[in-house]
Formats: sequence, structure tokens, C-alpha cells
Amino acid sequence: MEKKITKIGVLTSGGDSPGMNAAIRAVVRTGNYFGLEVYGIYRGYAGLIENDIHRMDNRSVANIIQRGGTILKTARSKEFRTSEGRQIAYNNLKNLGINGLIVIGGDGSFTGADIFSEEFDIPCIGLPGTIDKDIAGTDFTIGFDTAVNTAVEAIDKIRDTMDAHDRLFVVEVMGRDAGYIALHSGIATGAENILIPETKTNIEDIIKNMMEKEKRKKLVNLIVVAEGDDFGGGDAVGKAIKERLPKADVRVCILGHIQRGGSPSCMDRLIASRMGFHAVESLLEGRRNVMVGIMNNKMNYIPLKQALKSKNKIDTNWLKIVKILAS
Ligand code: ATP
Repeated sequence: MEKKITKIGVLTSGGDSPGMNAAIRAVVRTGNYFGLEVYGIYRGYAGLIENDIHRMDNRSVANIIQRGGTILKTARSKEFRTSEGRQIAYNNLKNLGINGLIVIGGDGSFTGADIFSEEFDIPCIGLPGTIDKDIAGTDFTIGFDTAVNTAVEAIDKIRDTMDAHDRLFVVEVMGRDAGYIALHSGIATGAENILIPETKTNIEDIIKNMMEKEKRKKLVNLIVVAEGDDFGGGDAVGKAIKERLPKADVRVCILGHIQRGGSPSCMDRLIASRMGFHAVESLLEGRRNVMVGIMNNKMNYIPLKQALKSKNKIDTNWLKIVKILAS
């Protein structure tokens, strides 16, 4: 028989993403509403092993919905990758009587949760908290919308200088393995080229195209590149173009960590609140080892394993549209 859930723990793990606080708030307040004891686990799995676990009431999450980062802090834990480390983590939960766990993080965090939940009798629910949007089973991940809007705002500013000086700008955005931030921010800022890890970059084609544009006196060019593009990041792309187009005024701008921080967008606050509520409800309904996602505006529950196995594939048809609109 399923054990009745009475005490739950919540943690944030892996890279932080804007909206994690809104999700924590939703978990804490929903848990308290249903009469559960809710515990915040600090610094992800590291805090779970170090017993950095504290009771949270509704007031402890006041005034955080608009804040970026995570009040629970996040960390990466090597120890949790070992069975000894996970045994200590489980003992800590058991001692406190915590019998349900909500993990807000990316695919690495879900892998940890999945293994932990299989080894020990503790149901885990995952909430997709990552700016990369590369997790299957959900149309949205907590933090993606804010990160993209930050990138768009920054690129719009760069564009002013680009236009004023007839410059060619290569802007690198985040995305080690996923091109979603590059694709969305590039389309929204009218980029001439968008380079993403999911497709092979043909730098010769890009340079040829620029040479033609140079002949037509179209000197302003924006290239948005994901940091994990197969050709290399912004610096590599900028260098290749400078070598082949010596007359062009080429600049490289790496947006970096500004994309992770900042106040979450309305969209991220909403999805985080909704997912946080449904994560608690899921535990109460007896679900275990699933990720709570949203697809076609409906809640979607998929096994953590499945969310890990099948990455959220990018629709590369978008790139055709980019080409046509940038001509
Ligand atoms: P991001 O997408 O921002 O990188 P993430 O959740 O994928 O976030 P990771 O650093 O990959 O971040 O994973 C976070 C933590 O999850 C790791 O530090 C580790 O403690 C745990 N973890 C990852 N993989 C495993 C694994 N195979 N076994 C046990 N724990 C793991």
C-alpha cells in the first residue's frame, strides 16, 4: 500500500534559473494548505547529504516570487553520485520523517532523483527548472522565458550601435547543448544567421552570403550563436569572419551570465506557480518518479526516465523562416 504523504522536502539543484523561487513558494504554500510539513533543503543534493534541511512556513516564502536565483541556493554534489552519499541523504530524510521529495532542476538533477527514488522508498517529483528548455514532455521550462527576454533586450541595445556604425555583430548566447535561446532570441531580434548545436554550421556559406551582402552595401549583420555550436562559440565565429572579410567591422559580444539572473518574467512566475502546485498534488495522489510539465496548456506527467531519454527536439524549420525574413 502507498504510504500517506505527511512531510515533504523541496530542493533546487544544478544551474539556477529565474522562477525557481516562485516554484518553491508554490510548493511550500500548497503543502501547508494541504496540512503537510514542508522542509526546504539548502544547496541541492549537497545540503541533503549535509542535513541542511529546515522547516518552511508560508511566511518564509513571502516576497520572493519576483526574485531571480533561488532562496534555497543550489549546488552540484559529487557525493550524491555515489551510493554512500545517497545513503546518508536518505538517512537524513528518514530521521525527519520526510516521505516525499520535489526536485527543481535540469536533466542531471532528474537523473539523481530517479536513481535515488529507485534505491530508496521515497517518491520524487521533478520540476523542469532550466533556462535551456531542452527537457522532453513540457512546452515550457522554468526560466527559459526570462532568459530569452533578457537576451532580446540586450541584443536590441547592441543593434542600435550596430546600425549606427554599420557593424557586423556576433552575439553569443547561452546553450551548451541546446539552441533554444539562440533560436528564439535570434528570430525575435531579426538576426541574419542563427547558429545552434542541433544543426551543422557551414561557415563558408555564411561568409559567402555576407560577401554578397557587402556588395549590395548591406553592412549591418547580426549573427546569434549558441555557446555550444559545433563550429565554436562567438569568438571562433567572429575570428573566422574577420579573417575572410577584413574590411568588415566585426565585433563579438558574449552575453554570458546576465541571461541566468534577474526578476522572472510573468510567464515564468505563472508556470512555476502552476507546476509547484501540481507537484504537491502529484505526491498526494500517489505519483512517483515523474516530471510535472505543461503541454498544450495542460498538465503533463511523464516518468523522469522518459524526460531524460528523449530530449526536447528543436523544430529546425524555423531556420528556413530566418533565412527568408533576413533577406
Ligand atoms: P543544468 O541544466 O543547469 O546543468 P542540471 O540539473 O542538469 O542543471 P547537473 O550539474 O547536471 O545540473 O546535475 C545536478 C546534480 O544532480 C549533480 O551535481 C549531482 O549531484 C546530481 N546528479 C547528476 N547526475 C547524477 C547521477 N548520474 N547520479 C546521481 N546524481 C546525479
